[in-house]
Amino acid sequence: MSTKRIPHRIYLTEDQLPTQYYNLRADMKELPDPMLNPGTGQPVVPEDLYPVFAQELAKQELADRTRHFDIPDEVMDIYRIYRPSPLCRAYNLEKALDTPAKIYYKFEGNNTSGSHKLNSAIPQAYYAKMEGLTGLTTETGAGQWGTAMAEACAYFGLDLTVYMVKVSFNQKPFRKAIMETFGAKVFASPSDTTNAGRTILAADPDNSGSLGVAISEALEVAVTTEGYRYVLGSVLNQVLLHQSVIGLESEKALELYDEYPDIIIGCAGGGSNLGGLIAPFMRDKIQGTHDPRIIAIEPASCPSFTRGKYAYDFCDTGKMTPLAKMYTLGSGFKPSANHAGGLRYHGMSPILSKLYHDGYMEARSVEQTSVFEAAKMFAKLETILPAPESAHAIRGAVDEALKCKETGEEKTILFGLTGTGYFDMTAYQASNDGTMSDYVPTDEDLQPGFDSLPNIG
Ligand SMILES: *Cc1c(COP(=O)(O)O)cnc(C)c1O
Repeated sequence: MSTKRIPHRIYLTEDQLPTQYYNLRADMKELPDPMLNPGTGQPVVPEDLYPVFAQELAKQELADRTRHFDIPDEVMDIYRIYRPSPLCRAYNLEKALDTPAKIYYKFEGNNTSGSHKLNSAIPQAYYAKMEGLTGLTTETGAGQWGTAMAEACAYFGLDLTVYMVKVSFNQKPFRKAIMETFGAKVFASPSDTTNAGRTILAADPDNSGSLGVAISEALEVAVTTEGYRYVLGSVLNQVLLHQSVIGLESEKALELYDEYPDIIIGCAGGGSNLGGLIAPFMRDKIQGTHDPRIIAIEPASCPSFTRGKYAYDFCDTGKMTPLAKMYTLGSGFKPSANHAGGLRYHGMSPILSKLYHDGYMEARSVEQTSVFEAAKMFAKLETILPAPESAHAIRGAVDEALKCKETGEEKTILFGLTGTGYFDMTAYQASNDGTMSDYVPTDEDLQPGFDSLPNIG
C-alpha cells in the first residue's frame, strides 16, 4: 500500500462515506463544563432549549456520552451531491517551500456556500422540517453560513431570515443576492427590525455589527415567531458533531495510503471546522494510540484562545443565550473590521476550549497581512483561491513546513482548507494594493470585553 504513489487528490467512493456522525465528547476523559440556564444557574436540560432549537438538535447538543448518531438518509442524499470533499496532497506547495514535510489539505469549498458550513446547515434544516417547523432564523458573519442555510432551507422548503453583520454586508454585497436567490430574507445587523438591534443603534448609530449582536437579533425573531426556531453555524456541540464528517473522511482517505498526520492545523472562529477535522484524531490522542500535535490558528485581531479567558459567558451580545464555559473575549467585545469575517467571534467551542485548557491542543494567532501572503502563494501554486479564514490554516501549515525544512524532519501535516474566497475580493485587493493593515488589540482594548463577563465560577 505505502508504495502506491499518492495522487494529488484522494476521493473516497460513495460507499466509503461516513454514515454516522462521531461525537468526540463521548471519548473525552473530562467533559466540558455544562451549559447553564442563566435564570436558574442550573445545567441546561433539553426542554430548556426546545423554544430555541429543533428538539433533535437540542438533544444532540446535550448528548455528552452518545458516541455516534446515524446520518439520516435524507441528509445523505444531499451530502452525496458534494461529498466526499477531496483530500489533496499539496505537492506544488511542498516543492515551492522546499520542505521534506508532506502537506495534505481537506478542501471544503466545493459547494455554493463556498465552505464547510453546508455540512451542518443540512441536518439542522432537516431536523426542523421533520418536527413540522415552518421557518428558521440565523446570523451570518462573512455570509458563508447564511448561504449554506439558505441552500438547505430552500431544499427542505423552510423560510429563512438571516441577520448579516453590517461590516460584511457592506464588504460583500453579492452574498445577500445569493441568499435571496435561494429564497432567504436578509437584514444588515444591527437592524431596526428587533429590540436588540434598535437598542444598539440608539446607543451607537454607526455600530458595524458583530456576530454576537446578529445572534441576539436572530434569536429574538425565532422565539417570538410561531413555528420558527433558531440555528447557529458554529460553536455549538451539535455543529461540531455534524462537522465530524470532515475528519472521518480525512481519516479514511489517509488510511488508504497508510498515512497518519503528525500535525493537524485548522483556523478557529467558533471552532466547528477544526473540531470536525480533528475529531477522530483527537480520539486517538486521548486514547493514546497516536500523538498528533493539533494547532488552532486564529486572527491576532480576535484572539479568543490566545488572549481570552476561560470563563462562563453568553454566546450573544444581548445576553439571551445560555451560558457556556469557553475561551472568550467577552460578549461585549467589539471586533475590528478584520477581513476574515468568519473568525470574528468573541467565544470558542466549549469542546475545543476544554481540550485546549487540558493541554490536548495548541493555539497561535497570526496577523492578516501574513495570512494574505500565504493565501496568494497557495492560490498560485494549488490553483484554489482560499477564503481569508481558511488562509489562517495555510499560514500555520506553511510555518510548520518551513520548520521541517530547518530540522529536516519529514512530518505529515494535515490542514483544513475550509473554503473559497470569491466574495473576499475587497480584502485581496487591499492586500494587492499594499493598503491592508494589521490590528492587534492592546490589553486596554480587550478590557471592556472582559468587563462584560458575567460573574460565575
Ligand atoms: C465560518 C468559517 C470559518 C470559521 O468557523 P469555524 O466554526 O471556526 O470553523 C472558517 N472558514 C470558513 C470558510 C468559514 O466560512
